[in-house]
Amino acid sequence: MQLSSLLTKFNEPETIKMAKLGRELRASGIDVVDLSLGEPDFNTPDHIKEAAKKAIDENWSHYTPVPGYLELREAVCRKLKRDNNLEYTPQQIVVSTGAKQSLANTVLSIVYDDDEVIIPTPYWVTYSEIVRLARGKVVFIRTTPDAGFKITPEQLEAAITPKTRLFIFSSPCNPTGAVYTKTELEGLAKVFEKYPDLFILSDEIYEYINYANDNGGGHQSIAQFDSIKNRVIVLNGLSKGFAMTGWRLGYIAANIDIAKACEKIQGQFTSGTNSIAQRAAITALDSPLSATDEMVKQFKKRKARVLQLLTEFPDLKYTEPDGAFYIFPEVKKYFGKKSGNETINNASDLCMYLLNVAHVSTVTGDAFGNPDCIRISFANNMENIEEGFIRIKRGLDQLK
Ligand code: PLP
Repeated sequence: MQLSSLLTKFNEPETIKMAKLGRELRASGIDVVDLSLGEPDFNTPDHIKEAAKKAIDENWSHYTPVPGYLELREAVCRKLKRDNNLEYTPQQIVVSTGAKQSLANTVLSIVYDDDEVIIPTPYWVTYSEIVRLARGKVVFIRTTPDAGFKITPEQLEAAITPKTRLFIFSSPCNPTGAVYTKTELEGLAKVFEKYPDLFILSDEIYEYINYANDNGGGHQSIAQFDSIKNRVIVLNGLSKGFAMTGWRLGYIAANIDIAKACEKIQGQFTSGTNSIAQRAAITALDSPLSATDEMVKQFKKRKARVLQLLTEFPDLKYTEPDGAFYIFPEVKKYFGKKSGNETINNASDLCMYLLNVAHVSTVTGDAFGNPDCIRISFANNMENIEEGFIRIKRGLDQLK
């Protein structure tokens, strides 16, 4: 069947593929522990669900304005002021069907035909694929566990060319949990000051899931630097911080030209996101963050337990995550080892082995631009985390 050649330019997300394979194994009767999850295992807080039920009863059932209800965009502005001390007007906000669509809108607004986009690795799977879908060229900056998986201003400047249009990064980072400090962001901002044609997409969707808060670090947005704010697109959404992955609610805050461009694209693709989710999002953003804080408390306990469990794996090299709910250990020591006739050549082989033999699902680092690592999620209850690590240990110990 002849389909568009555009389809050959990008890949299906490895995270979604892994979840699918896990589900298939489970459907065949095998009990699989899922440590591949990229979403909170908690339910959406009750006050947000109540707001959605009320919105249904009040018949919020018509098409919404393309960039989202004004009341919601005002609530986003209040949130950005409250949490980030950032000033935006509702005209600068576009609400979309998940941060994933916000990202797609933004990339399609800025990138076309061989424009270069700089992405530090490891990175969230979708960045590179959306750039490719926009026919842009991805330029990676490699980071290492020893550098805390963060780039330096020197690395950034070395990657910029006259064709560079956009820089995309997440802090806290999926998959490494790396969190940039204010000083580190300031260093990057100083470089961006020198290149006025370059835009910066700052993915802050894990903002609340930040363990650096304990050290006085806290979340920092690169949009706080006035010299570059006009070129920063803040990307955020309700999926992670409010356990609302299925509601599909994301947003950008950007300069008015970018916001208008995203609205234009969205006007053709979806006409705007779901009306009920939008009404519920107003309540989520305007309410105290006690439910979020409670979830983060649980993630923190799990992270501590995962770090404890990892002491039993001297061959896994890792950096302690300061945010998000993943650990991203290097698994190179297992490459070349065998289970029966099967050789583990790379992280993808190891993930498939862990899934099929140890019955625990993780995600290969290939999916995040680092083929030496795997991503293990602790967005699962303690019992499953304990069982998952027992299985990983058993599986790895069998490799000779
Ligand atoms: N950004 C990052 C770093 C993510 O990990 C995800 C989801 O996994 C998203 C954006 C997209 O979130 P959503 O489309 O659910 O709002």
